[in-house]
Amino acid sequence: MNVADSEMVAAIMKSNGYETTDDIQTADVVVINTCSVRDNAERKIWNRLDFMKGLKHRNKNLKVGVIGCMAQRVGDKLFDSGAVDFVAGPDAYRHIPALVEETDLKPVADTDFDITETYAGIEPLRLDRESISGFVSITRGCNNFCSYCIVPYTRGRERSRSADDIIRESENLQANGYKELTLLGQNVNSYICGEYNFPKLIETVARRVPEMRVRFTTSHPKDISDELLEAIARNPNICNHIHLPVQSGSNTVLERMNRKYTREWYLDRIAAIRRIIPDCGLSTDIFCGFCGETESDYMQTVDLMETVGFDSAFLFKYSNRPGTFASKNLVDDVPEEEKVARLARLIEIQNRISLERNRSDIGKIFEVLVEGESKRSTDMLCGRTQQNKMVVFDRMTLKKGDYAKVKITEASSATLKGIVIQ
Ligand code: SAH
Ligand code: SF4
Repeated sequence: MNVADSEMVAAIMKSNGYETTDDIQTADVVVINTCSVRDNAERKIWNRLDFMKGLKHRNKNLKVGVIGCMAQRVGDKLFDSGAVDFVAGPDAYRHIPALVEETDLKPVADTDFDITETYAGIEPLRLDRESISGFVSITRGCNNFCSYCIVPYTRGRERSRSADDIIRESENLQANGYKELTLLGQNVNSYICGEYNFPKLIETVARRVPEMRVRFTTSHPKDISDELLEAIARNPNICNHIHLPVQSGSNTVLERMNRKYTREWYLDRIAAIRRIIPDCGLSTDIFCGFCGETESDYMQTVDLMETVGFDSAFLFKYSNRPGTFASKNLVDDVPEEEKVARLARLIEIQNRISLERNRSDIGKIFEVLVEGESKRSTDMLCGRTQQNKMVVFDRMTLKKGDYAKVKITEASSATLKGIVIQ
């Protein structure tokens, strides 16, 4: 999401006469886009600001700005770093060029919310020229108020971008040679614009860009409908992969998290996915050590992981975020050593499940979109299956952006290896 936002900011800067540079030493303005979802993301930024202080020391004309969720949450306290000239929250990006000018006089912060801001009419400036994959934002903000989460406070109320803008951006990606796009939102299933709900939107996009793969993230389990699953099943270029964050396998914990679904509901949605899209890749987000999580709650999470058999998972430990409902009303009572130990066990369990899932792909044939050279060897290429699994294979005469049929011969917990058969 921040990559997508940075591309929007780059476009705004460009239309005000700025160019992007890969060399930070020669930059006149540095804009740091930030995340607040866990404390360690913010800590990285404070370290980065120490480095920026050195840079500013050497280049007195350099302006440094902090944008994104941390800008919104921490606001003008960021000036204490001695490295920051301007601060802009997620709804203030159109004002950045003006903020840069104002900093000639004094540091400035703009953290006003604007419920109507969807950055309509701004065509993102694609920053990674090597990539064949682009992002398209479809909603901004979030209304779910999961009790642990800072996002509704930093990104404001949910709003949907216009379907026309989304379709046009998608078509432009295709016209510029991109092969894959990802529709982005905190809860894509609640997208609504005129006659377009999310299933209708993704199907329309998929049909307008038939040469591209279409992905989406993130789906909230309470809102993922059979109508969406059927749209995925019907359209060959909508990838058979769903990222469905479960967070916990315990109903008491889910209730305390204000996730608005139960373990049983979640398992029913997984069953629907398996029924409607039999070869669907599945991934999730889980965090352990939330307020009041007992060993027995935790074991229910482990049990759910085993029951579903996710192909992969992003695993975290709870991080108390000031200002959230949990921070104000619940007790962060799982000791840090216990959180660390629970997380280590989750990672070990998921690695084993991922290995089992990947091994079960041996002998199967997948359509792979070639992304580039593999990390280990220039003779090998890598690319993803529709299920979002990384496959490594011989280069042959293939190049980035090609589709190949690959038969899987080896598997580790993180990657598949295979031979090209077509
Ligand atoms: N909108 C997405 C999640 C965005 S945040 C959704 O609801 O699925 C990405 C992930 O960070 C979440 O799924 C959750 O697993 C994790 N997360 C969010 N707040 C957290 C916190 N306070 N501590 C630890 N992990 C957190
Ligand atoms: Fe945060 Fe919940 Fe919204 Fe996801 S759905 S961004 S976890 S409040």
